[in-house]
Amino acid sequence: MPNARQCTRPGCSGSAVATLSFNHEHATAWLDDLAPESHPSTYDLCKRHATHLSVPKGWELRDRRNLVPHLAFTA
Ligand SMILES: [Zn+2]
Repeated sequence: MPNARQCTRPGCSGSAVATLSFNHEHATAWLDDLAPESHPSTYDLCKRHATHLSVPKGWELRDRRNLVPHLAFTA
């Protein structure tokens, strides 16, 4: 089953639903819907870890997913 990928966080066995990629030069991280194929420079994350993702200080996180309405972020 090519889509049965797991979260890459240590100790987590959740199903991957999102793919995280980085550009160190621009200090930017992108969160996308799960990529069709895994890639050595990206990280697959489960829904929980994708939702609670944080990036290093000074970095920008751009969430490009269309999975879930951002109901939890109506500050
Ligand atoms: Zn996880």
